[in-house]
Amino acid sequence: MDNFNNNTIVAIATALNNSGISIIRISGDESLNIVNKIFKPKNVDKDITKVKSHTIHYGYIVDNGIVDEVLVSVMKGPNSYTAEDVVEINCHGGIIVTKQILDLCIKAGARMAEPGEFTKRAFLNGRIDLSQAEAVTDLINAKSDYAAKSSINHLRGDLKNKIEEIREVIIHDIAFIEAALDDPEHYDVDEKTDEIRENIVSVIDKINKMYKTSDNGRIIKEGINTVIVGKPNAGKSSFLNSLLGEERAIVTDIEGTTRDVLCEEVNIDGIVLNLVDTAGIRETKDVVEKIGVDKAKEYIEKADLIIYIVDATEQLDDNDYDIIDTIKNKNVIVLLNKTDLDKEITSDYISKKFDDTVSILEISAKFNEGIDKFEQIVKDKFFTGEVNYNDEVYITNMRHKEALFNSMDSLNNVVESIDMCMPEDLFIVDMMNAYASLGLIIGAEVEDDLVDKIFKEFCMGK
Ligand code: GDP
Repeated sequence: MDNFNNNTIVAIATALNNSGISIIRISGDESLNIVNKIFKPKNVDKDITKVKSHTIHYGYIVDNGIVDEVLVSVMKGPNSYTAEDVVEINCHGGIIVTKQILDLCIKAGARMAEPGEFTKRAFLNGRIDLSQAEAVTDLINAKSDYAAKSSINHLRGDLKNKIEEIREVIIHDIAFIEAALDDPEHYDVDEKTDEIRENIVSVIDKINKMYKTSDNGRIIKEGINTVIVGKPNAGKSSFLNSLLGEERAIVTDIEGTTRDVLCEEVNIDGIVLNLVDTAGIRETKDVVEKIGVDKAKEYIEKADLIIYIVDATEQLDDNDYDIIDTIKNKNVIVLLNKTDLDKEITSDYISKKFDDTVSILEISAKFNEGIDKFEQIVKDKFFTGEVNYNDEVYITNMRHKEALFNSMDSLNNVVESIDMCMPEDLFIVDMMNAYASLGLIIGAEVEDDLVDKIFKEFCMGK
């Protein structure tokens, strides 16, 4: 058995615990030869190295005797996950047996894969671009249906296609300017400057639209950062419990018991709320509570949504006015709680303290009343109209967001240079920077692309 083949990699593709099935995945030129050394097909006349692609074979993994009864799937490159020859061994899912088979593959010449190496190979072999490779991890880590759908769109290549479309426009103009610089007799940039400017302005608009989705994109991927505020005893913990459907926060009659912040994650029909319950905001000399209060203010600054719980059985007091002052320009849902009791204040009265965008809802946290309506309001606030998961591409990745920002920055410089009648060899640098920044999203090499494009589309010296 040779141990020198580093090109064929192996790994356990499923979680390592005692389960029904485990899958050991092998990829590379030697996959079939390696499996041939350890696999005995039930049909003894069968030669696994010669079977058709995309077929499954029943048999045994053998060492000194039978190790396990398995199914072996053969997917020959380029029509496989990595675009190389891939073999997957489906074995019984015991930890011991799975590890034994992995060891046998290594002894037979495969190398242990690094994390993500199968996907990296799919990228290096050109089957997927970088944004698609990243979508694989996002899909695996998706916390909600929306996050999963968004990753699938990226995996399908939606982001890649949009970026390629935009880069196409930029490279076309770069190529023209390059040609004109090399051959001014035949190409005149001055005649085309207006058209180039128009192209760049429309490209900036497209990039900006994508860039703007990154807020929703983050919410889709990570959830809505939500802070629950309200003076002590308003019913914050009770509301959190009704939402979670279980007793997790401590509910008491003593004011100020929610000392520090409490973080919980709740999933409303596929939308994740990252909830932070705070000690409420009020002037306090108690050190422990002061920490809670400071943290509450910090969280409010960063929140996507504020849930303000008001005790309907009491008049608003200084605590409430302090809270209202802190949150009034934010995205707020006011919950008028304890409406099972006699009310001292009304929704109308509270709405006057906020602007038109505030949503006010009467609930009873204790009796789980109004919780459904609350969930509907959240869905309407974040996911109506503009969000359409079938064709919209959401930017969920910070790396992509940064690249989009940088490309817009460079393109704005181009427009400015054109408006100031700067020479084209100056602004072509900014165009190349924008092209390169966008290329980072899909993992493309700028130089090779550029050279190829110039020779393909323009006949130099003609
Ligand atoms: P927090 O300090 O804001 O977290 O308030 P809690 O959730 O601990 O509630 C304070 C008190 O108000 C407890 O005795 C709760 O049982 C009571 N409470 C909370 N919500 C309601 C409600 O909707 N109706 C009634 N009647 N009591 C409530």
